[in-house]
Amino acid sequence: MAIQTTNPATNQVVCSFEEMTDLAVDAAVAQATTAFDAWKTTTHAHRATLLHQVADLLRAQQEPLARLITLEMGKLLAQAKGEINLSADIFDYYAEHGAEFLADKPLHPDHGSALVRPSPVGVLLGVEPWNFPFYQVARFAAPNLMIGNVVLVKHASSVPQCGIALERLLQEAGAPVGLYTNLLLAGARATALVSDARIKGVSLTGSEAAGASVAAAAGQHLKKSVLELGGSDAFIILEDADLDQAVRWAVVGRINNNGECCVAAKRFIAVEAVADEFLAKFKTKLSQLKVGDPMDPATELGPLSSEGAAAELASQVQRAVAAGAQVLLGGHRLPGPGAFMEPTILAGLAPDNPAYREELFGPVAAFYRVPDEAAAIALANDSPFGLGGSVFTQDVARGQRVADQLDTGMVFINHPTWTQPDLPFGGTKGSGYGRELAALGIEEFVNKKLIRVS
Ligand code: NDP
Repeated sequence: MAIQTTNPATNQVVCSFEEMTDLAVDAAVAQATTAFDAWKTTTHAHRATLLHQVADLLRAQQEPLARLITLEMGKLLAQAKGEINLSADIFDYYAEHGAEFLADKPLHPDHGSALVRPSPVGVLLGVEPWNFPFYQVARFAAPNLMIGNVVLVKHASSVPQCGIALERLLQEAGAPVGLYTNLLLAGARATALVSDARIKGVSLTGSEAAGASVAAAAGQHLKKSVLELGGSDAFIILEDADLDQAVRWAVVGRINNNGECCVAAKRFIAVEAVADEFLAKFKTKLSQLKVGDPMDPATELGPLSSEGAAAELASQVQRAVAAGAQVLLGGHRLPGPGAFMEPTILAGLAPDNPAYREELFGPVAAFYRVPDEAAAIALANDSPFGLGGSVFTQDVARGQRVADQLDTGMVFINHPTWTQPDLPFGGTKGSGYGRELAALGIEEFVNKKLIRVS
């Protein structure tokens, strides 16, 4: 894939970048290794100052950075601004809580005294996706810089300017040379880089194929990996749900970020008693969405991130229909330039339909009706993915009982799966392993060193 900015609202190529040579990558890894030797000796307070400075700069440059996001991957400008604020909040969160998370943990052994001292592990590689070009990097970089690790970031080839802007911002914030390095590389070369002995771990957010490739290389070289892959979150509507609230959140859960979220609500599972009413209201709201230019504040649904992404989604819909699905709304690309897809609802997806198990990364909702709660849980769990999920009921205890039975890393009651700095994020099954954000997110690339005194 060429490393270039292509505006998905017009499909015009804006600018292209040369990939780094092997020699340049080698020099970057060497520089990062040198940076680690110094950074690991700094205090928590020193690291926190840098992280706060990054947060301040993100907020100060919110408008131009948000425009860059929208230009490169098509997110609505207001949501891009929200992403910059959220990224700043993540840097602030680890600056404020990092020292507490990383404090010595005293132990009380039978003999002697002992403690566990969280220590950095070294240079890490982050392989990041285009769907949240700042937030995804923030949740990898902020905790790891706070630990004392050093990061190399291989960003998606479709958002090179976001990657370059983040590196520049870290430099402006006062990061020493080599602390944070943006690598302009194609995906396959990131896998090859995992074998470099100077790199101690890898974190990837993206597709299962990319995750498997990176994790295989990490396993072969005995390195830790964290994977945040796709999802096909169930959105369960029980008969005692507040239906208007459920419909409102169903629309947000499906089309937030133009539908390109790993934790988007993708499978809408309504029990029979409320299925017709939910579907009618959901369909009306989706059909009223204003689709168009993501820079225009009046737009409610923008393009997909690229022509390739839109073509793939449209072909998934066609394959689903060929295998017996019904299209209840939309189903087609929109005419004219740009990677646009109509808001779409598919129904009648049998277990042998490819769309029953695939992730639909865009504004395509899969609708299912089931007899009761038990059937809703069984259907929700019949997925290769296990990222998030939500259940709508006015009985919170019932919602918690349903949550206990869902095979996912996250469950939200009366809300679509969401993210904030102080909630751990991650999945099970084909959605990957490990956690990001909150206290758990700072524990992945830490050497929990035992120190015992006799
Ligand atoms: P990819 O997994 O290809 O891209 C994510 C990142 O992985 C990019 O930086 C990419 O680099 C890199 N990458 C790709 N192949 C390899 C490899 N063999 N070794 C190491 N790194 C690699 O996702 P796509 O952009 O192709 O999107 C495809 C699908 O993946 C989506 O439709 C969605 O289902 C899922 N996805 C999920 C995301 C999530 O948030 N969990 C985010 C993005 C995608 P490069 O861009 O250079 O290829």
